[in-house]
Amino acid sequence: MITRLHDPDYARWAAQIRATGGCRQPIHLRGRVDHIDRATGELLHRYTTRTEPGGVLRVPCKTRRASRCPACAEVYRADTYQLIRAGLSGGKGVPETVTGHPCLFVTLTAPSFGVVHARREKNGKVLPCHARRDAATCPHGRVMSCTKRHGTEDACLGEPLCGDCYDYAGSVLFNALASQLWRYFTDALRRRVAKLGGLTLRELRERLTIAFAKVAEYQRRGVVHFHAVIRLDGPDGPASPPPAWATADALADAVRHAASAVSVPVPAVANEPARVLRWGAQLDIRPITMGGELTEQAVAGYIAKYATKAAECVGTLDRRISPLDDLDALPLREHARRLIAECFRLGTLDNLADLRLTQWAHMLGFRGHFSTRSRHYSTTLGDIRADRETFVREEEISTGRLPLFDEDTVLVVAEWEYAGKGLAPGDALLAAALTGVPLADPGGPR
Ligand SMILES: [Zn+2]
Ligand SMILES: [Zn+2]
Ligand SMILES: [Zn+2]
Repeated sequence: MITRLHDPDYARWAAQIRATGGCRQPIHLRGRVDHIDRATGELLHRYTTRTEPGGVLRVPCKTRRASRCPACAEVYRADTYQLIRAGLSGGKGVPETVTGHPCLFVTLTAPSFGVVHARREKNGKVLPCHARRDAATCPHGRVMSCTKRHGTEDACLGEPLCGDCYDYAGSVLFNALASQLWRYFTDALRRRVAKLGGLTLRELRERLTIAFAKVAEYQRRGVVHFHAVIRLDGPDGPASPPPAWATADALADAVRHAASAVSVPVPAVANEPARVLRWGAQLDIRPITMGGELTEQAVAGYIAKYATKAAECVGTLDRRISPLDDLDALPLREHARRLIAECFRLGTLDNLADLRLTQWAHMLGFRGHFSTRSRHYSTTLGDIRADRETFVREEEISTGRLPLFDEDTVLVVAEWEYAGKGLAPGDALLAAALTGVPLADPGGPR
């Protein structure tokens, strides 16, 4: 810290750090940008990192994951919020008439893989976890009952009453196939909506489109479930209204039907029986209405928050784990350790090779995208980022930090190379003080 503070380049270093917005693990780039006159070949302007502190430019890591970099994840969260909100209430190129389209917030859950400790509430009162008067004893000698009223932070939440009875294989297979189940669900939903309108799928496409925005959330028991905005539009997307028969009630009916209709078969392998994976019985369907019980701000906030999270609440690690690692030596929760071990076990089976369970063991089998939108949902994250970059560039030009050249006559040649990542411990302290982003996330994984 002292060396950095006394460095003659300190002011420029601090400016770079401020420009990263408090990124905890900035990427270091070495290189240059030349502006060349197309007609004469004359070099009009050159930016080079040679004169920067340490000879590098520090840029934000742009991760979406709050556990890795809270500052960059916050940018991702805010962008996702704007994108989801535009699809619900208009803006960013989406007309405000979209608020009149039928729109639901749907939660699709995983089925049960065994009894787990849970906090249950009814009318604001906490109920016993799993109280059974004549509880059976499992083959491992454990009584299948828990009369505790668990607090929100109890470490046992999501852990099985008996780990030896728990269907670990089912749990990781569900995660591995959840994205496929989601695809089948959207196909079934289109077919059902077409049927309700008395149309073929081809005819449906000419009159109606179904827009989706979904996010995956890990439950503490280690399975993903999906939250999704599902909206009905006319044939041209959010700018056109859906036909009158396509109401929110009709959509809810179709969602219920599609969720119960789809399944993914898993063939019998080694000691595992053949299975058919389906959504859990718990299906939540709520209309999104302006100023109603579930508002568009609430939904956008909810989806954006989960878009920056991964499996950390389950107590796994935020990085790849190799089958050669000693699982007992890693800081994992016991339940997560068993889920990871199960991924490694099933990952060796030829028939399941496509699921790549070994590579995705740290994600407990899930390898899908956390947050996805259908093409016409609203704007894209790319467009939102491009708008921000244009804004920053124009600001730099107007304040004289970047030269203003006519784009048609000037050739921009950029050469960049990766030169490292992160901050030295002293630099990290200074960066936290400069940007107001706390050094470590106190609510990180156990
Ligand atoms: Zn970052
Ligand atoms: Zn319990
Ligand atoms: Zn048992």
